[in-house]
Amino acid sequence: MTNKNQRVLITGAAGFLGSHLCDRFVSEGFHVIGMDNFITGHKANLEHLRGNPNFEFFEHDITNFIKIEGPIDYIMHFASPASPIDYVKIPIQTLKVGSLGTHNLLGLAKAKGARILIASTSEIYGDPLVHPQSETYFGNVNTIGPRGVYDEAKRFQESLVMAYHRVHGLETRIARIFNTYGPRMRLNDGRVVPAFIGQALRGEDLTVFGDGKQTRSFCYVDDMIEGLYRLLFSNYFEPVNLGNPDELTILDFAHEILELSKSNSKIRYMELTENDPLQRQPDIRLAQDLLDWKPVISRKVGISNTFTYFAALPREQLLRKEHKDFTSRNKEK
Ligand code: UDP
Repeated sequence: MTNKNQRVLITGAAGFLGSHLCDRFVSEGFHVIGMDNFITGHKANLEHLRGNPNFEFFEHDITNFIKIEGPIDYIMHFASPASPIDYVKIPIQTLKVGSLGTHNLLGLAKAKGARILIASTSEIYGDPLVHPQSETYFGNVNTIGPRGVYDEAKRFQESLVMAYHRVHGLETRIARIFNTYGPRMRLNDGRVVPAFIGQALRGEDLTVFGDGKQTRSFCYVDDMIEGLYRLLFSNYFEPVNLGNPDELTILDFAHEILELSKSNSKIRYMELTENDPLQRQPDIRLAQDLLDWKPVISRKVGISNTFTYFAALPREQLLRKEHKDFTSRNKEK
């Protein structure tokens, strides 16, 4: 069977990763069914696929029963708020989509005989006590902290997926996704990449939380999509880390953005958010062995592409006041 006859359901289709996945599967010749309730996704991310005969879209909240006519071969489950400010604003929806939403999709996968890949996260490692994080590490999560709603929903999601795999023999894949960035992120989602780029473009100071010594490792979206695509078509059902091991401090990252943007902005230190992981770097040896995959796009190239994307947004979008939401929650130090 060629890809042309195969149908893939992508949840969170109007989001950052979901919309890039839609593009990839359409370009590979699949028939793509996108689903989103627009709680954090945006119609604009799918505008270019409107009218494409290989793409259809349903506005639906997957925490409610999902009805789809006809066969489904693959499900890519990417519906979830994914930013610390979202967890604070919509904690119940975050818990529900990871638990009830995943349960509905597993039921759908079982009914249709589909293979399902779920988006898990480096957040399941919490504020990690081992470094770098490999798949064998069990994590250090505060269940009742501000990130707990996301972290625990994703941990529950992994357990539920493994239970469906063991009990029903469902074909399942689990991607543990580390910090990923690129075009179509929300300018105002509070995450550090759009936050710093937006601030540099507006000529505002860059808000570094804490002393900026906490680390992250950023993966460009094209690399991530390639890893996800390969994982879906692999034979491995246990969790696999996907991310870029190139780690740096947030302060160094802020300086990189200032240099790239040639902006006169300065650094403004704000209070560190509770339970902010102090270090994060994926151990990707499993993905390398299993999928023959590793990121190939440097931060220099990836950030410059992302910068170009944000710089081209309409000026009024760039200046919209709501971007201030996230900085106002962290007090100046
Ligand atoms: N961060 C920051 N300034 C901002 C936004 C984020 O210093 O305006 C820091 C944040 O404290 C964290 C890192 O950048 O240590 C990455 O944050 P993000 O929200 O992007 O993702 P996380 O990896 O924490 O989920």
